[in-house]
Amino acid sequence: MEYKIAVIQGDGIGPEIVEQGLRVLDKIGQLYGHKFTYTNLLAGGCAIDEKDEPLPAETIEICKKSDAVILGAVGGPKWDNLPGEKRPEKALLGLRGELGLYANLRPAVIYEELKDACPLKPEIIGDSIDIMVVRELTGGIYFGKRGRTKGEKGSEAFDTETYSEAEVERIARIAFQIAQKRRSKVTSVDKANILESSRLWREVVIRVSKDYPGVELDHLYVDNAAMQLIRDPKQFDVIVTSNMFGDILSDEASMITGSIGMLPSASLGYDSFGLYEPIHGSAPDIAGKNMANPIATVLSIAMMLRYSFNLENEAKAVENAVSMVLKNGYRTGDIMSVGMKQVGTKEMGELIMNYIIRDN
Ligand code: NAD
Repeated sequence: MEYKIAVIQGDGIGPEIVEQGLRVLDKIGQLYGHKFTYTNLLAGGCAIDEKDEPLPAETIEICKKSDAVILGAVGGPKWDNLPGEKRPEKALLGLRGELGLYANLRPAVIYEELKDACPLKPEIIGDSIDIMVVRELTGGIYFGKRGRTKGEKGSEAFDTETYSEAEVERIARIAFQIAQKRRSKVTSVDKANILESSRLWREVVIRVSKDYPGVELDHLYVDNAAMQLIRDPKQFDVIVTSNMFGDILSDEASMITGSIGMLPSASLGYDSFGLYEPIHGSAPDIAGKNMANPIATVLSIAMMLRYSFNLENEAKAVENAVSMVLKNGYRTGDIMSVGMKQVGTKEMGELIMNYIIRDN
């Protein structure tokens, strides 16, 4: 099979980490007989420098014709003083909208070998934590009607949370389908005791759940969910929630793993098209120094293999290689601890590549 991949390296550490990710992907291609072809595209600060805009039309056009998009990170101090519309980060929102990416998937996994980095007590972590937060990405209060009016006591401002049945249904289906491939549990998070939009959310999630009888469904109010993530994170498998609640809870879930350089993400649209990127930024403080951890990018590529290309064995082979590298004591600076062997970005990429084996 041939897969066309749009590659946006971006700024700062973007090019370094993407380079390592693509080496790993090429190894998968060799071992499993797939052809991955790459088209390098500009977005973010580098696009401003070359094309005077953060998201050139050509980038959008080629992304749309590709099977998936890999993104490093964008932004940096060089472009910090530009007006909002011209800033590199504008490219991220633009890509989500233009590519119709309505579901954001963020796994929060604690690796056995990195348990020390978790800020929670060992008895709370238990054997492992493996949560997938599925956040609705293109609706809700971030996209609703907003404005300012003059009230009796001065200025007033409002933002509106609106969800349609169709918007809730499509994100709920993604959550249930992912749960089917995991531990078959979905927790839907809302504020149905107060918000009408949450009541519709809950009704639709319950209706959709009937199509997935093997998946257990429960509901939590968002305030309780925030508390439960710290009190007993092991209870969660897949969390599905709205744009704003997901923004907050996915950051909370990822921070309990304690290591930003390890966390991948996927943003999915229709027909299994997706954009895959690490959750961290362009880390200008370590750019070009061979210090960045490429694991979040490598794991984002494993998500691409799983969710866009339906290549489960290949995704597992990448994830197993990452586990083996950690088990054998190799660490980049950000996850380094006493007694481990510190390596740079390139060496980490090489190690993961070498640990990939095809056993299925
Ligand atoms: P950041 O994630 O880039 O860095 C925060 C800290 O984490 C830094 O100390 C950095 O060195 C470290 N870090 C991040 N990724 C790492 C990795 N892979 N390996 C080792 N250490 C790593 O966040 P920031 O400093 O707030 O933002 C820097 C720039 O990135 C800003 O311009 C911001 O707007 C942009 N940004 C981009 C994205 C994106 O492209 N998706 C996301 C967040 C921030």
